[in-house]
Amino acid sequence: MCSGRVDLEFVLRAFLNGMDGVFVGGCRLGECNYVTHGNYYALNMVLLCKRLLEHIGLNPDRLRIEFMSSAEGILFARVMNEFSRQVRELGPLGESEGIDRQELRSRLTEVISLVPYIKIVKNEKLASRLESPEEYDKLFSREEIDRLFSEVVSYYIDPEKCQACMICARRCPVEAITGAKNQIHVIDQETCIKCGTCYEVCPPKFNAVTKIVGGPVPLPLPEEERVLVRG
Ligand code: SF4
Ligand code: SF4
Repeated sequence: MCSGRVDLEFVLRAFLNGMDGVFVGGCRLGECNYVTHGNYYALNMVLLCKRLLEHIGLNPDRLRIEFMSSAEGILFARVMNEFSRQVRELGPLGESEGIDRQELRSRLTEVISLVPYIKIVKNEKLASRLESPEEYDKLFSREEIDRLFSEVVSYYIDPEKCQACMICARRCPVEAITGAKNQIHVIDQETCIKCGTCYEVCPPKFNAVTKIVGGPVPLPLPEEERVLVRG
C-alpha cells in the first residue's frame, strides 16, 4: 500500500534471489495522503541501498525509485520501459561487475544480516525529508558506508562478570541470549541484531556486557563451563 513499507531487506533479498534490477514506485513526494509520508522513507532507503550495493561491488543503477500518481499511466510505462532497457544493458547481476556467483551470494547475505543494525545506526537519516534532488547524493557518503562496515559493533558477555540475573535475556528482542538461573549468559552472535539493549540493561554493579567496535568477538564459554560459582 505504501512505498514506506518496502524494507531495505526486501530489496537486498530480491537481488539475492536473482533479480537483475529492482524498481520501487511511490506517490509523489509531499502528496502523501497520510501523516506518515512513507515515500520519503522509501527514498532514503533506496539512497542508502544504492550505497550498500556500491560497497559490495554492484552497480547502483540496478535499483531505481520514482514517484508518480496512480493516474500517470503513460509516465509509469515510460519509466518501466526505460528501466528494463537499462537493466538489460547491465546484464545479469554480478556478471558485468565481475563478481562470481558464490561470492555475490556471500556479500549480499552478509549485508542482509546487518540490516537491523544498519537501520538502527542510520535511523535518523532514514527518517529525514529531503527537499530537493540535489540533496540525494549527499545523504549517505561512500566513506560513511565504508566506516559503517569497518566499525560494526558486537556485544559480548564477560563470563567473569555475569551474575546470571537474567535481565538481558528477558529484554533481548530476538532471543539471542542463552542463559538460566545460576548459568552464565552467552550471546549468539548469529542471531544478535546489535540493538545494544543488553548493554543498556545489564545492572551497572555487574557491568558484564562489553561493546566491541570493529573487532573480533571472543568465543562463547563452552556449555559445560557456564555454571555460576558465586564467591
Ligand atoms: S545486542 Fe540486542 S539483539 Fe544482541 S544480544 Fe544484546 S539485546 Fe540481544
Ligand atoms: S544482565 Fe548482565 S549480569 Fe545479568 S545475565 Fe545479563 S549479562 Fe549477566
